[in-house]
Amino acid sequence: MMISVAEAESIVTQCQPTYPIEKVPLERAYGRVLREDVFADRDLPPYNSVAMDGIAIDSTAWQQGLRSFPIAGTQAAGDPQQSLPAADACLEVMTGSVLPQGADAVVRYEDVNIDGDTARVADGIAVEPMQNVRQQASDRQLGEKLLSAGYRLFSPQLAILAFVGHARVKVDKRPSIGIVSTGNELVDIDQPVQPHQIRRSNTYALQASLNRLHYPETCLYHLNDEHESLVEGLREILNRHDVLLIGGGVSRGKYDLVPSVLDKLGVTTQFHQVRQRPGKPFWFGTAAGNTLVYALPGNPVSALTCFHRYTLPQLQHSAGSKEISRECAVLNSDIRFLKSLTLFRPVKIVRKQEGTIFVEPVAYRNSGDLAALADSDGFVELDAEVEMFPTGSIVPFYRWT
Ligand code: AMP
Ligand code: MG
Repeated sequence: MMISVAEAESIVTQCQPTYPIEKVPLERAYGRVLREDVFADRDLPPYNSVAMDGIAIDSTAWQQGLRSFPIAGTQAAGDPQQSLPAADACLEVMTGSVLPQGADAVVRYEDVNIDGDTARVADGIAVEPMQNVRQQASDRQLGEKLLSAGYRLFSPQLAILAFVGHARVKVDKRPSIGIVSTGNELVDIDQPVQPHQIRRSNTYALQASLNRLHYPETCLYHLNDEHESLVEGLREILNRHDVLLIGGGVSRGKYDLVPSVLDKLGVTTQFHQVRQRPGKPFWFGTAAGNTLVYALPGNPVSALTCFHRYTLPQLQHSAGSKEISRECAVLNSDIRFLKSLTLFRPVKIVRKQEGTIFVEPVAYRNSGDLAALADSDGFVELDAEVEMFPTGSIVPFYRWT
């Protein structure tokens, strides 16, 4: 039975497993999902930290009218804490150094005149306790939680992990993904192509996109439309990977054997056919060991669309606890279509204005029209229940990765 896009999405969501935790070096954690809470191992800042190059003084001395301070020495960043030898002396201090014992304020060089070994605070400059000092623990205290499990690790989070000394970090294990093309007509890109053949293109697109999105474990396969080789090939590939993307062989043709072969291999059909265009024959199933099988229609636009609409958001979702973030765009021209199937329409961004993306359909013939995608940035999703989407409609927008 054909199901709606929303139903298909919800089934795919429910089937997402939680992948095991692995510990990786910080350099390999970018883009991954944190699977542990991370706490401050010290106060932040860990000491009263000088925030400006200048002199450190006791502000009480200044308040009592003192303006000239003999310079007792210099304390650079990385030096252990020194002490003011007397309340009316000063030390030169550099950004990042520890506030010297006995000092409670820093006057920046711009506000000081230095003459020999005396520093004079300029007239008209006020000195407050703790000025130009980042006070110990003023950002976070020892033991406070800095990051929670479920956070995605981008540059700021990686910096925090490094700051608290996490050379290795617990993250979600990335699924290993097998990408399979099927079809006797398909030849590899570096092979001679006969008049009755075409080069396979889908698999390269999917692999590039997955690798860019930090799924490095991908492997390409090709199988012919032949029952025995499909059974043997898919059996082996199923055993090797956590996720399978199969292209082609899911329609109604005589040689579209993928669903029956998967069935024979014990893969449970979750659905076959979705009320969408392109991509109606889309098939999805689950196998033992939490393996997910996305059997995408072979037509290039269908394959790319189903992949971006279902596989990618779900991979991201299963990798983290955060909501799937959805982008919207505004139609820059009317789109009318015959309802009954949800339309995934390739579009290009025509302008961006005040945070809004405006899109227009690209000239496009059918789901085989790969060349039309050259000028497109993604596709919009137009609900089957509506017939006319006027200019200005706000609709879900999926960007090509
Ligand atoms: P199928 O879903 O197997 O009926 O394939 C539909 C169309 O997509 C046919 O024209 C195939 O030749 C084409 N096709 C299938 N797989 C690929 C692929 N990996 N790359 C490019 N075209 C493909
Ligand atoms: Mg085929």
